[in-house]
Amino acid sequence: MRQGPDMPWDSIHKQEAHTGTAPNLRDYATVCAGFSWEAARRALDGLPDGGLNIAHEAIDRHVAHGRGAHPALRWLGKAGARHDFTYADLKRLTDRFANALRTLGVAKGDRVFGLMGRLPELYIAALGTLKNGSVFSPLFSAFGPEPIRSRMELGDAKALVTTEALYRKKVMAWRHELPKLTHVLLVECNEAALPEGTLSLAQAMAAASETFAIEPTRPDDMALLHFTSGTTGRPKGAVHVHEAVVGHAVTGRLALDIHPEDRVWCTADPGWVTGMSYGIIAPLTNGATLIVDEAEFDAERWYGTLQNELVTVWYTAPTAIRMMMKIGTEIIRKYDLSRLRFLASVGEPLNPEAVVWSQQAFGRPFHDNWWQTETGGIMIANFASMDIKPGSMGRPIPGIEAAIVERKPEGVAVVEKPMAMGELALKPGWPSMFRGYLHEDERYKKCFVGGWYLTGDLAMRDADGYFWFVGRADDVIKSSGHLIGPFEVESALMEHPAVAEAGVIGKPDPMAGEIVKAFVALKGGYAPSEDLRKELLGHARKRLGPAVAPKEIDFRANLPKTRSGKIMRRLLKARELGLPEGDLSTLESDER
Ligand code: AMP
Repeated sequence: MRQGPDMPWDSIHKQEAHTGTAPNLRDYATVCAGFSWEAARRALDGLPDGGLNIAHEAIDRHVAHGRGAHPALRWLGKAGARHDFTYADLKRLTDRFANALRTLGVAKGDRVFGLMGRLPELYIAALGTLKNGSVFSPLFSAFGPEPIRSRMELGDAKALVTTEALYRKKVMAWRHELPKLTHVLLVECNEAALPEGTLSLAQAMAAASETFAIEPTRPDDMALLHFTSGTTGRPKGAVHVHEAVVGHAVTGRLALDIHPEDRVWCTADPGWVTGMSYGIIAPLTNGATLIVDEAEFDAERWYGTLQNELVTVWYTAPTAIRMMMKIGTEIIRKYDLSRLRFLASVGEPLNPEAVVWSQQAFGRPFHDNWWQTETGGIMIANFASMDIKPGSMGRPIPGIEAAIVERKPEGVAVVEKPMAMGELALKPGWPSMFRGYLHEDERYKKCFVGGWYLTGDLAMRDADGYFWFVGRADDVIKSSGHLIGPFEVESALMEHPAVAEAGVIGKPDPMAGEIVKAFVALKGGYAPSEDLRKELLGHARKRLGPAVAPKEIDFRANLPKTRSGKIMRRLLKARELGLPEGDLSTLESDER
């Protein structure tokens, strides 16, 4: 493999010198050596009887410690509205929400689903549900009726908080098919003419008391239910517990370098685990201010938000970064982004090109980090105090043991050799680890082999302990005896000035087993042509060598992606081969 240290990119050196803020993690080795999860847990309050509750640590703890007046959330509406909530405001509102649930008979362990855009009520509902000891499950508001119904059915929904418009359009028709669904609370509704069997959330909250004694949840009580299908397969409900907050607090502080005075903008929707863990819990637990934008991606709006909201920590995803790259750097010069201190990316491999681009465009690199719905929080990261090797996911969070392993009939063997490819594995036991797939014990058990949690991702580790992503195990290509990771090929194609996005698959071939086939979306100003195809094939061959370079390249206007921005290589492959397309509930943009 040509990936890793022999990539043609220089390391980007740590940036502490010009930001004026000392990183929370100053020296990786020292912090790792002194780290324990028990000490991290002791740094939080806990509940009086020894219990632990995410919402207490995220909100009430700060109020109790005298920071009630500090801004907790600034909300930016699509049409220009702006609302500020202090920690004291959030405490009152979430107490009211929890009381409203309790009055309705929604109890500890009951499932409360949230289905709405990024409205303030979503944040209040999520944290209020946790105070009540109930389980919150966020759904992405752009899901169609069927993915909503199937997730709520699988998750045993007892209550739903949604808007009237979404309820009428996506839920009303089948609502009575879910006998356990007893309460529907509506926001943005016409209180004079509510649909049958629904309540106004505003009215329910107005009638509720403003003080609430948090349900004495235990660290291993279920708190969040996140549905994931990743880029493959059918959705599964990953179960997370209140103890996860220890991981969110630590990873927010160390991997995203969140300080209490920070203004943190995580662009992910809380319908996905990133939007919940780092768009709500981690910044609040660290006492910072959340910036929430209701609107979808728009480059001008985003740069305006970074400037006007004085964002200091920005957590986004490669798809958005690639869209910004497509538009170019000229536009950035119009904005004063001098407050921006720490840029991070997750969700997909971050091409080295994008890291180098951000260094030029913003004067700061994007810090890639890696995790999954199942891990509940960041596991591998490029820390603020570390030199970045563009294309690497970084090093494990203190307290996390990560390894490259090989599956064997009798278990797994750890691969010690630097830059040898294998499956990325984690030693179980970190606080935000998922505790099950709901109603699917066998599927859960299969993730653990020989004392390791196997992630399903292929990766390599270099001699300095940096991890390099290769691909999902399902996406890796076997061509003439070579194992080829799609990310390596995609990154090489991305280096060409015409390429905005690339998705690479293995296409069955009688001679080679599989050949590498690439799908490419072009930047503005470039049009598909036979000459450009040849040029890209030549560029890739020069960069990767003939064994790894794609043999075929097709142009596409867009690549199919999940709503969380991951390129769906499985779908590219199914379409190429004329195979069934499978579960498309998470598909967002379509190439056709
Ligand atoms: P999900 O659980 O849907 O968030 O998907 C998790 C998967 O996204 C991981 O198993 C990886 O395949 C991919 N992923 C997330 N972050 C990264 C990253 N920084 N680099 C490469 N792949 C990533």
